[in-house]
Amino acid sequence: MSSSVSRRRLLQIAGATAVASTAGPLAAASPARAAVLPPARPDIGVSAHPFAFGQVRLTASRWLDNENRTRSYLRFVDTDRLLYNFRANHRLSTKGAAATGGWDAPTFPFRTHVQGHFLTAWAQSYAVTGDTVCRDKATYMVAELAKCQANNSAAGFSAGYLSGYPESEFTALEQRTLTNGNVPYYTVHKTLAGLLDVWRLLGSTQARDVLLALAGWVDWRTGRLSGQQTQAMLETEFGGMNAVLTDLCQQTGDTRWLAVARRFDHAAVFDPLAAGQDRLSGLHANTQVPKWIGAAREYKATGTTRYRDIATHAWDICVGTHTYAIGGNSQAEHFRAPNAIAAYLNKDTCESCNTFNMLSLTRELFALTPDRAALFDFYEQAWLNQMTGQQNPADGHGHVTYFTPLAPGSRRGVGPAWGGGTWSTDYGTFWCCQGTGLEMHTRLMDSVYFRDGDDSTLTVNLFVPSVLDWSQRGITVTQSTSFPVGDTTTLKVTGDAGGTWAMRVRIPGWTSGATVSVNGVAQNIATTPGSYAKLTRSWSPGDTVTVRLPMRVVLRAANDDPDVAAVTYGPTVLSGDYGDSALGSLPSLNTASIRRTGDSSLAFTATANGSSVGLGPFHEAHGHNYTVYWRIGGTDRVRLVNVGSGLVLGIQDMSTADGGRALQWHDSGTADHGWEVIDDAGAVRIRNTHSGKVLGVRDMSTADNAAVLQWSDNGTADHRWTLLDQGDGTCVIRNAHSGKLLGIENHSTAVGAFAVQDSDNGTADNRWRIVADQ
Ligand SMILES: [Zn+2]
Repeated sequence: MSSSVSRRRLLQIAGATAVASTAGPLAAASPARAAVLPPARPDIGVSAHPFAFGQVRLTASRWLDNENRTRSYLRFVDTDRLLYNFRANHRLSTKGAAATGGWDAPTFPFRTHVQGHFLTAWAQSYAVTGDTVCRDKATYMVAELAKCQANNSAAGFSAGYLSGYPESEFTALEQRTLTNGNVPYYTVHKTLAGLLDVWRLLGSTQARDVLLALAGWVDWRTGRLSGQQTQAMLETEFGGMNAVLTDLCQQTGDTRWLAVARRFDHAAVFDPLAAGQDRLSGLHANTQVPKWIGAAREYKATGTTRYRDIATHAWDICVGTHTYAIGGNSQAEHFRAPNAIAAYLNKDTCESCNTFNMLSLTRELFALTPDRAALFDFYEQAWLNQMTGQQNPADGHGHVTYFTPLAPGSRRGVGPAWGGGTWSTDYGTFWCCQGTGLEMHTRLMDSVYFRDGDDSTLTVNLFVPSVLDWSQRGITVTQSTSFPVGDTTTLKVTGDAGGTWAMRVRIPGWTSGATVSVNGVAQNIATTPGSYAKLTRSWSPGDTVTVRLPMRVVLRAANDDPDVAAVTYGPTVLSGDYGDSALGSLPSLNTASIRRTGDSSLAFTATANGSSVGLGPFHEAHGHNYTVYWRIGGTDRVRLVNVGSGLVLGIQDMSTADGGRALQWHDSGTADHGWEVIDDAGAVRIRNTHSGKVLGVRDMSTADNAAVLQWSDNGTADHRWTLLDQGDGTCVIRNAHSGKLLGIENHSTAVGAFAVQDSDNGTADNRWRIVADQ
């Protein structure tokens, strides 16, 4: 840390306890990141850190285009119109500004939820790009909010209150008599978070003072309630109150705010999650995700492992059993039964806010467990397929969609009226997803790179054209790539790059045969899919790392219906382009017909419902009707008869769990003896018709005698096999990842002997007959 950072930190700590001053924002006009204030309390348990906003810059790409479109809107929007409801409620002149519409209309119950998102987005835009128009809009709004707050006694409100509707709504909330649809703490959370970002990213002490006064009002208001009254109140959506108040504790060092944060621990949601139970079905989805982020923040402030367990279990459950192929969750804003995916392919799937918040939760968990590559495999999936495409590229203000519909024949920006019905607009919508969208597209670069605590290791999590200013070491990293069209990215290190340090690169679970080279020389390091490849060496300025992540077409079946699947290529979901045609049901896809038609784009063709259809990246599916999911059924059921023993392949104890071991058994007709052989672009997957799981190799081993088992159809390379006809009615079944053959342990002919992979040594147990099931 430089001495200037230490000095700023001292100023900041001193400032936090000072009385309100009349000083305006402190931010200097010099490099944007100079205004970033570090928190007073370090997070507990953290071993990976994001870079400050100003240290990472996007270069030419779809993502830079998204950022620029949103920034154009942020520069355009009239701050006085956004202040209308605050000023009117706090009995100040609205200065002739017109009121806004949609969810910010003067009659809408939770008006003034969106202004906090604007504060965050303006602050982020300034921190990233140095855009002083955005900075000045943020500081102007903060100054005007301070005037609103200062007029509380004339308006009849308690000290510190700040909102666009009367304080009496909180009385009704506490007494459980609120019936107008308002979610008061949801809006207060947004305002607190926006003020916090203007303070820490722009250095505005006025934002800090307004924030502390409003947080003090929350403390006073909630401190009067019994625990029972509080838990009853928490039945009403309250956003991430536990998260932002914990952030305030960390930023100021004052544990008073942690105590207030913990009043928002919602026991009815936290207790089952702490025990690892999925009780999400029927809950309003985006009411829950911010609480989980809060749990992660509370762990980092307290070290209480129960909070970590809540956050981790919530992520595992949501991603594992409630998430569609594009990374989103929820239908009609609600969680459905675990694994109900194909059952809810509707026009109101995947609310954008939920996914935005799941990305934030993923970042929180990655900081705790940076070796868990599955976290950023999910991040990439949701960030690329849903959130990149959330924005309308044809709109210069970067307006966004609320839902991302997954009904066959859906179109982005066309949804049910209660979810906006259309793209967001300049002044007529202001729904929740418009607010989170502003934050999303001003921080698209925030998760590409991470650093460890002593700046000895750089982690590359996303493959995006960008420049990292690793100023802690004086190193510049320039990433150039056409990913995900191309499968290769290069990372050139310049500046003070000399010396020994490590670069970790995520090797996604969807790839196989990944390679890492430096200056054209292949490096002998592990590139296991679903892990991080670590390159530790003595570097020289100009060294260039090339990472190649081979892609292929993989079908991702819905958890609840193996005959319904999405088509993916590497990280990219490919959707079918149906132009203006309506689709009454999922098209039936001939999966063997999928072909890429060019190297310079992700253009594919296939045959579905007997006709040719074009497929392309779902994040670019705009202006036409699409399908993400397809019907892939109609595969014949077979039995697999081992030539050596005459016994058939089944699953131990008819297990339906991941990891259930394959073994041979009498042909007794139990359901686990049925298999489907599914075409998979030049190979097959072998799916148990009882469990719906596919055959793979334990831990993706490439060793002889590694266990063959069933696993969820998640596209890892060991799930692919090739069937090689031996010309005598038998075949060998070769694992595409290891090259080994499906066989029986010790060539056993005994009932119950386990299946393993084996070298191609010509023994009878390595041959199989595929027999049609009757
Ligand atoms: Zn939303």
